[in-house]
Amino acid sequence: MSSGKRVLGMTLSTSSNERVKGMVDGTTALISLFSRDGEFIHANPAATGFFGDARPRLLDWLVDRDARQRLLECLDREDEVRSLCEVATINGRRWHDLDLRSCTDTESGRDAVLLTCIDVTELKAAGERAHFLAQNDRLTGLRNRDFLELHVSQLVEQDGPDGRFVLLLADIDDFQGINNWLGDDIGNRILEATANRIRASLRGGDVAARVSGDQFAIVSRGTDDAESCEVLVTRLRAAIAAPLRINGHDITIPVSFGIAMYPCDGADFGGLMRNAHLALQAAKAQGWSSWCYFRPSMNEKARRRVEFEAELRTAIRERQFVVHYQPRVSIADNRADAVEALVRWNHPARGILLPGHFIGMCEETGLIHDLGMQVLEEALCQQLVWKKAGLDLGMSINLSPRQLERESFADEIGSRIQAIGADPATIEFEITESMLLVDDGPTSSNLATLTATGFNLSIDDFGTGYSNLAHILRFPVSCIKIDRSFIIAGREGPAIVDLILTLARQIGARVVAEGVETDDQLTWLRECGCPEYQGFLFSRPIPADMLEKRIAGFPQLAAL
Ligand code: C2E
Ligand code: MG
Ligand code: MG
Repeated sequence: MSSGKRVLGMTLSTSSNERVKGMVDGTTALISLFSRDGEFIHANPAATGFFGDARPRLLDWLVDRDARQRLLECLDREDEVRSLCEVATINGRRWHDLDLRSCTDTESGRDAVLLTCIDVTELKAAGERAHFLAQNDRLTGLRNRDFLELHVSQLVEQDGPDGRFVLLLADIDDFQGINNWLGDDIGNRILEATANRIRASLRGGDVAARVSGDQFAIVSRGTDDAESCEVLVTRLRAAIAAPLRINGHDITIPVSFGIAMYPCDGADFGGLMRNAHLALQAAKAQGWSSWCYFRPSMNEKARRRVEFEAELRTAIRERQFVVHYQPRVSIADNRADAVEALVRWNHPARGILLPGHFIGMCEETGLIHDLGMQVLEEALCQQLVWKKAGLDLGMSINLSPRQLERESFADEIGSRIQAIGADPATIEFEITESMLLVDDGPTSSNLATLTATGFNLSIDDFGTGYSNLAHILRFPVSCIKIDRSFIIAGREGPAIVDLILTLARQIGARVVAEGVETDDQLTWLRECGCPEYQGFLFSRPIPADMLEKRIAGFPQLAAL
């Protein structure tokens, strides 16, 4: 060790010295030596390639002009200084990991600075991307759930129970339906557009995140009471409501909101999210594009609801629903020319359940779309089976308002019916008067498409709703079904049956009396001139095989 020179604080033998030189010359790290006052002394081949012909002063190439001075001052205090710096190169700006060490220039014996630079641009970009992805949603660029959780925890820790902020959950109504209808790519574009609109509605300090598929959360600190909350929701709804033009379709995105306030509705992120979820479900139960504050009573109701919803989902997946058929009969000759499809739940533990037990819940949860489709498929396949057997029966299918609210409904029905090979002219959709009251939007455009495609429309439970003639006349209604309550009232009731018969004649619609149970009622209806009826008197709703036996022997009339 005694015969070597001091290089970098180490004493090396001559052979070791040669080895070090080989390593220094061979490395891709930029190694260079400068005098303590910044003059260039020496550089390894990698650094020479970087500097070119220039002999720059120490750290003159840093983008941040003040950084050089700072680093040199640090070097006055420490033997070694490290820093990540942006540098200007002939290939543009890069990031270098710099290592500056005080040493002695072995040639001149002067104080010197040994500089080692490693280009870490790609590494830094990858690190930044990883950091970005850890906090942001890849698709929309909004914050992600993890970031929001951290943000809420910081607000809670910072402000304690005296703090006030709101957590608002926004969820696109029936996003699954939109995806099914338009495909995942357009679904993604809708998510991006919604995210952009949410972002544009935020005020300073508000944070928005995509917390799951079609669900966004907004945490707003400036929003601390019902009034300011309403302002925020109104702003968001207005921003989101503007129609989006996608692939030639103008799409309005329905979004519902659930609102939870800190600290009264939750002490931390988990509690606030849970309760905002319950509020969101309550909002959705009111219909699309609604909003709702969390209330403590939602907890118990939610538990039961969640259980029931899970049961219904299983039932749909396992196809536990069956369709029964009730004949529609001509009063003149007691012949059945059509049937109404009525769904039943063949519950594994509770037996056959009537629609009153589950349709409401299916509507609230949006499951009515899947259920409705199953009923439609089963009924139409059955209709074809009968047709092949020589039994031509029209098929009436009940629609719920929620089904018609889905923009894609008529198109989905059209393609499904084509796939099955059914004839629209033999199919009738039963709707209620209230569905005709909707002026614009998906309900009326669906009804227009359905009737234009050749399907028949009938008004179910007629007389119990708004009975606004102007609305009835908007669509070609082919049949009116008089509500059972008027049949029970019979001769003693108001003269409504006469009125309906007159109206039906005017608009060229057929009339069916619902819920006929007795011979008396039938006699009275015959006297009134009512042409058709449905009811227990002829048959309860029954399974397909029973129906065949029930109406066997009655020659079929022409289809609807
Ligand atoms: P609705 O369309 O008015 O169907 C007639 C209801 O009256 C049926 O009840 C039927 O069983 C009952 N009914 C028929 N004749 C008589 C009678 O003589 N006396 C009495 N007391 N009742 C009679 P159900 O099957 O319980 O269905 C109730 C409602 O559920 C239906 O009323 C309809 O609005 C809805 N629904 C049934 N199936 C479906 C479906 O597949 N989709 C949708 N969206 N709704 C359905
Ligand atoms: Mg009906
Ligand atoms: Mg009815």
